[in-house]
Amino acid sequence: MTKKIFWEDPYLTQLDTLTTSVKDTDVTVEQTIFFPFSGGQESDYGTIGDRRVLQARTEGREIVYTLENGHGLKPGDQVSMKIDWERRYKLMRLHFAAEIVLELVYQKLGPIRKAGAHIAQDKARIDFEWDENISKVFPVIQKEALGMIEANQEIISAFSDEEKEKRYWEIRGFAKVPCGGTHLKKTGEIGEIELKRKNPGKGKERIEIYVSGNSISFAPDPAKLQPLLSFPGSDGL
Ligand SMILES: [Zn+2]
Repeated sequence: MTKKIFWEDPYLTQLDTLTTSVKDTDVTVEQTIFFPFSGGQESDYGTIGDRRVLQARTEGREIVYTLENGHGLKPGDQVSMKIDWERRYKLMRLHFAAEIVLELVYQKLGPIRKAGAHIAQDKARIDFEWDENISKVFPVIQKEALGMIEANQEIISAFSDEEKEKRYWEIRGFAKVPCGGTHLKKTGEIGEIELKRKNPGKGKERIEIYVSGNSISFAPDPAKLQPLLSFPGSDGL
């Protein structure tokens, strides 16, 4: 089972590890910082042993990385894993912006039901089953979210059940929510948020979330990271 270092330290951008299995183009590793597509958050981009990762997916609690044909890796090889930090940090900021917006929607609109969520590099979205125009609550949500961001509150991330790999995040006095994503340390890292309403169909409302501006960052300086191969953007909509 891959040890998920992205939970212990979601700010790590490079890790030396070992391959544990190789089956055609699919590889597993002993430890990983490379987040797979999971819980609506898109996968990281990056490399294993300088080979480009085409896909990172979960299989039960294992994570399988698909490399290009002819990668040449064998089980037990020492490899360095690198992730595209610019992308990951944007995903983390949008992910947590979406967490706060979702909690505030629940707090303001009571029995509303979430129908889905997706976090891409350029925006996050949350879909709801709701008959009214959801943008009515945007001013109050934006004001309260901004207050939390300016207060730079601590975000606790931990296991609720380590054996089953169940995780949660918590902001004391605000919410405690189950989630296995990669989370920021402080709300101030989000920066500025902007909300847009989309109406994807009858009885459905969508909130699109954008982040911009400066964040109070714990992130390593991207200029000091080795450049990675670039990938085309995709928001999966
Ligand atoms: Zn989360």
